[in-house]
Amino acid sequence: MKNRRIAIIGTGVAGLACARKLGMAGHDITLFEKSRGLGGRVATRRTPDGLFFDHGAPCISQPEHAPDLKKALAESELIKLWQATPENAPYVGVPAMNAWLKPLAENLTVHLQSRVKAIEAAGERWRLTISHDEGTNASEDFDQIVSTIPAPQARELLGALPGFSGVFDKIDMTPCWTLMSAFSERLNLPFDFQETPASGIAKLIRNSAKPGRRAVPDCWVLQADAQWSATHLEIEKEDAAELLLALFESAAGVQLPSPVYQTAHRWRYALTRNAYGVPFLPHPDGSIYLGGDWLLGDTIAHAWRSGSAIADSLIQAG
Ligand SMILES: Cc1cc2nc3c(=O)[nH]c(=O)nc-3n(C[C@H](O)[C@H](O)[C@H](O)COP(=O)(O)OP(=O)(O)OC[C@H]3O[C@@H](n4cnc5c(N)ncnc54)[C@H](O)[C@@H]3O)c2cc1C
Repeated sequence: MKNRRIAIIGTGVAGLACARKLGMAGHDITLFEKSRGLGGRVATRRTPDGLFFDHGAPCISQPEHAPDLKKALAESELIKLWQATPENAPYVGVPAMNAWLKPLAENLTVHLQSRVKAIEAAGERWRLTISHDEGTNASEDFDQIVSTIPAPQARELLGALPGFSGVFDKIDMTPCWTLMSAFSERLNLPFDFQETPASGIAKLIRNSAKPGRRAVPDCWVLQADAQWSATHLEIEKEDAAELLLALFESAAGVQLPSPVYQTAHRWRYALTRNAYGVPFLPHPDGSIYLGGDWLLGDTIAHAWRSGSAIADSLIQAG
């Protein structure tokens, strides 16, 4: 097995947890990631002016769902406890949510801005067609594929392969519109983290109050709830930002000053509604594994457990 080439698609938590274990066991792995950075939905927006917004997962929920994640968090200097979050979601990355994930990819072969567009059989192997952001296409052959991308994207890429038909039918992932707003002075609001503070809002978070962040400008992240996000899914980003700022004001109960920075981000596939119920799904011949949070649930711990279980299975097979 160690001589076999393994491709991991996606460098979110699941892909990185899998890669770290396989890398430590000496396997030949290559990671492909369509975006510019690591972390997937554990994401931080950095503006040219040095503002930070964790616009994906704001904290790490129920790490006990993945015992080796709990250990990794306890050992990382890039993780801190934050008292403002609910008791079951105690950890945040420092100085950014995704900071702790970057060291997991050290010494690994990672191709960023490289989207896997197609997978087809090539003799005994699988041929990946990869489109790079600069406009070129390439293909590479691998013995083993590990997909850690969200279910709807995995359906597009792999749904036509025999063995995976019907797998994706019961999985539903809800969207999330997210507002990022910064104010020149600290807002005088009596909370740093609130769940469902007003209709349409899932979470309202004072990003600047997290450990290791600058206190001003006062940076906030608002996550719309699934229903609001689905209703407004196709509106323009600028329109979403205006509507979300109005929701923010309704939660604050006062008129807010004009933000010095504001933008919105649409997560088309944010949270899993119906998980599959197993850590991963192997292709009948074992040469492709489907993983990611959606197999087990809707949290970072679920993603970690899935990626880690795939690595264990491949290591055992070796
Ligand atoms: C708004 C929001 C709030 C959340 N809140 C919490 C929370 O409070 N607590 C918690 O624990 N979790 C939370 N989560 C969920 C958590 O972020 C996810 O469960 C976890 O990050 C999923 O990791 P993953 O590796 O399975 O998938 P992802 O993070 O989605 O990683 C998949 C990666 O694959 C890449 N990719 C996709 N298609 C391709 C392709 N064709 N080729 C190459 N690369 C591709 C993507 O760019 C991405 O980087 C939240 C998520 C969001 C969006």
